[in-house]
Amino acid sequence: MTAISVLGLGRMGGAMARRFLEHGHEVTVWNRTPSRANDLVAEGAVAAESPARAVDGARLVITMLADAAAVTEVLTGPDGAAPHIGAHTVVAQMSTIGPEATAELAATLPSSVRMIDAPVKGSVPQVRDGALTILAGGAPADIDQAAEALSQLGTIRRCGRVGAGSAVKLVINAAMISAVTALAEVMAVADGLDVPEDLARAVLSESPLGAALTRADATGAAFPITLAAKDLGLAVAGREDTAVLRAVRDRLAAATHGDEDLSAIVADVRSHH
Ligand code: NAP
Repeated sequence: MTAISVLGLGRMGGAMARRFLEHGHEVTVWNRTPSRANDLVAEGAVAAESPARAVDGARLVITMLADAAAVTEVLTGPDGAAPHIGAHTVVAQMSTIGPEATAELAATLPSSVRMIDAPVKGSVPQVRDGALTILAGGAPADIDQAAEALSQLGTIRRCGRVGAGSAVKLVINAAMISAVTALAEVMAVADGLDVPEDLARAVLSESPLGAALTRADATGAAFPITLAAKDLGLAVAGREDTAVLRAVRDRLAAATHGDEDLSAIVADVRSHH
């Protein structure tokens, strides 16, 4: 049993805290909107009133928050966790914030804080099933300590130093998000050419977009279009020769229902043709 603090109880952080509870860990939780902790408290978690109070005695602290601004606020802002994190604790920063923000964060934290970056491949169903891929960057001993509990969320893939996990995460998401959006346009082309849906799906499943079709058909995934646009923005920031990825980001940003899972981009694009 490990003492784990989860800071951020959105779709992913809430599911992570629940899985740790189910595996008998001692889980302390904090969320900006406190009511999101209620169900977890009923299931055995302890709710803390601030990030500072949440990390007392933890062996592993997880941040699973929307973006870099939220992570910085929660760790280093007023009542932030960082000054209260002891030498026996490892912080696993699991939000998708990219390598630059990860490096800035590592430079801002007190040098005594042992942080790894550990963004994840997979959505809520993979958290529930312990089937995430966790892209870990950091000192091997810190990853080893975090892995005692993180291995219950999925498989740990060691990527290198702090920030390397976040770099790999952007590569994975740039590929997956652009492929699903391209699939949406290809299916709209099939509509325009009067290719029957079943036939279009059959040939696309055998094409380079086959994995995108599988992702678009996935049930239960909860990765909003807005977060996908955020991740593509991180991938292209300051980089020339990313005209295609920028166009995909802009198309996602213009989607009608940004709060829906990325798979909804297929219906969105087809409805506009
Ligand atoms: P989410 O459901 O939107 O939850 C966001 C969390 O961040 C909430 O706990 C929210 O608190 C908190 N937050 C936002 N701004 C804050 C601030 N300024 N200060 C403190 N807390 C703040 O997001 P999610 O889907 O769980 O995703 C979390 C991270 O994982 C993101 O970086 C996302 O890109 C990444 N990710 C998501 C998925 C997925 O399938 N959803 C998959 C892989 C990676 P409130 O409750 O108070 O709003």
